Amino acid sequence: MVRPKVAFFGMTSCKGCYFQLLLVNEKLPYLLDRMDVVDFWMLNEAPKKADKYDIAFIDGAVSNHENAELVREVREKAKFVIAFGTCACLGGIPALRNPDEKQHNAYHKMVYGKEIAIKSYPHADPVHKHIHVDCHMYGCPINEHEIIEVVRDVILGKKPVEPDYPVCVDCKKAGISCLFKEGVPCLGPVSIAGCDAPCPASKTACDGCRGPLPDANWSEEAKLLKEHGIDRKKIDMMFSKYTGEKVK
Ligand code: SF4
Ligand code: SF4
Repeated sequence: MVRPKVAFFGMTSCKGCYFQLLLVNEKLPYLLDRMDVVDFWMLNEAPKKADKYDIAFIDGAVSNHENAELVREVREKAKFVIAFGTCACLGGIPALRNPDEKQHNAYHKMVYGKEIAIKSYPHADPVHKHIHVDCHMYGCPINEHEIIEVVRDVILGKKPVEPDYPVCVDCKKAGISCLFKEGVPCLGPVSIAGCDAPCPASKTACDGCRGPLPDANWSEEAKLLKEHGIDRKKIDMMFSKYTGEKVK
């Protein structure tokens, strides 16, 4: 792909992933030399000006009608769609409201009063629930090295590889001593890797911001957490933090 036309769109999220894009720092010229950015949601007042995109990045969860329309339109125009950030990939923090619609409505009224100013769905969805997504870049926020790798692969016509192993593998690769050995409970064994384990590297437990590993051993992890004094209610909250879905 020679100088692809690239667009960036945003929906319901904190925009941390957007800022992470700007943090690629010295690699930013590398990216900009190889692509034409035709739409960048945070900078454009009137987005969606191009008719076609080679690559479209979508950030944020689908949380309202406008979001749902946007992703459909982007899908029609783009050859390759990348969901970037855990909100786009899994619902993320906006999906915290998913399990309880009544609670969601109560919070809405508490914040906005009787007149609900913001019309949103009672649930926040990952983008792939609405359209076909070609690649997921997990993380809350995304990992800046991964951005470079994914963009490079797409330009070269390769499908980016999505990690299918746990954060513990990243720990082992980096020579990080396991926090469990120090009595610190960690979600690394059940979480999607690819971040290079920055949290365990700084002695902080992984809280699974890249989402749950599909074939994770949840019962073993729950047993471990329980042994470290965490009750079942808290464990369920930890497991569902970035998806809004209870692990069965
Ligand atoms: S610190 Fe966490 S992520 Fe690292 S090896 Fe231990 S359990 Fe796995
Ligand atoms: S170590 Fe865990 S919480 Fe930290 S960035 Fe990686 S997946 Fe996210």
